[in-house]
Amino acid sequence: MKVLVINAGSSSLKYQLLDTAKQELLAKGLCERIGLDAPRLKHEPAGKDKYEVQVAMPDHAAAISAVIEALTDADHGVVKSMDEVDAVGHRVVHGGDFYAESVLIDEDVKKAIKACYGLSPLHNPANMTGIEACEKLMPGKPMVAVFDTAFHQTMPARAFMYGLPYKYYEEDRIRRYGAHGTSHRYVSQRAADIMGRDPKNPEGLRLVTLHLGNGSSLAAVVDGKVQDTSMGLTPLEGPLMGTRCGNIDPAIVGYLMDKHNLSTKDIDRIMNKESGVLGISGVSSDFRDLEAAAKEGNERAQLALDMFAYQVRKIMGSYIFAMGGVDALVFTAGIGENDAYMRKQICAGLADLGIEIDDEKNSSLRGKEADLATEASKVRVLLIPTNEELMIAKDTEEIVKNA
Ligand code: ADP
Repeated sequence: MKVLVINAGSSSLKYQLLDTAKQELLAKGLCERIGLDAPRLKHEPAGKDKYEVQVAMPDHAAAISAVIEALTDADHGVVKSMDEVDAVGHRVVHGGDFYAESVLIDEDVKKAIKACYGLSPLHNPANMTGIEACEKLMPGKPMVAVFDTAFHQTMPARAFMYGLPYKYYEEDRIRRYGAHGTSHRYVSQRAADIMGRDPKNPEGLRLVTLHLGNGSSLAAVVDGKVQDTSMGLTPLEGPLMGTRCGNIDPAIVGYLMDKHNLSTKDIDRIMNKESGVLGISGVSSDFRDLEAAAKEGNERAQLALDMFAYQVRKIMGSYIFAMGGVDALVFTAGIGENDAYMRKQICAGLADLGIEIDDEKNSSLRGKEADLATEASKVRVLLIPTNEELMIAKDTEEIVKNA
């Protein structure tokens, strides 16, 4: 089946056209600056030259129109017409507690996505514009919503509840939802497969999946089901990240707001955009820059790296304890897949817990699936490049076939 995967942001839209039977990428691309001046489409057809054009994109419908043109273009295209594309899979950031799985999009699903606008004010409306634009331009084409929160819906209440008055859960749905769910699901299923287990039902298998990128989250996954995850009501909770503060004493918020006369918008900006390893180092949110600066003796860059490794280890450790042990750690996303230094820091000194990383494998293997543990290590340390788009395409295929 050929599935078009759409990830619509507020002013950008990423797409991939995948052949699910061959697990092959036919084309991918990105529309940038939708609704702004100088919008651009970057299109990469497999086996052909990349190209980049300026196209008028006043809204998401115009962007989807440009994507359709690029996919069917005589020179740069990969299909003759959109009739060859069987279905569309949409990444949707927040499904609240409405959806524990991906779902065929209908009016009720759209209502539920809208009901979650308050929980994801930047992303869900943008995802919806992508859905509506596709409906307009490809009427009747089956479409599936794949939620970033869905995989985390198996968490028990003891893990997803916050210690606030119960009425805020009942009335305002304040609870932990988690994020990066599609990535945690993909890598945990791949990990099960690599370990010779049934990816859909790996009974007894205990994993900590570490999605470490610009945004970072960890999940404790038992029997293929999430037991806990580090992102919360929003993607601000967890270890400190590129620009996000992660876990802090919640009283700091009110204290700083009062002391510096800050609005909720100000404190939100500070915690989301000006904090994390960028805020600590004053250098960059990118770990490559931090490691280069630390090597040259920049102490705050080193502190930011130390804090990240320490906070990730603390969360990882708490999950291992909560699960009563662990069979594999799974590293993924920009840092998890590429940053050998950080993986080493996170796994250092854990031999007593049966976690031993092989230094040579860790520093030489990158970008493809590998087991970085020593032969003697009781716990596997897996590097698994994430592939959220493939997961979205596979869900879309399964749901459309069974509809
Ligand atoms: P996003 O959350 O935006 O999807 P990614 O998963 O692409 O982020 O991760 C991006 C981050 O990965 C960068 O900010 C950078 O810190 C880190 N990264 C990428 N490549 C490397 C590398 N070779 N070494 C260290 N860090 C890297």
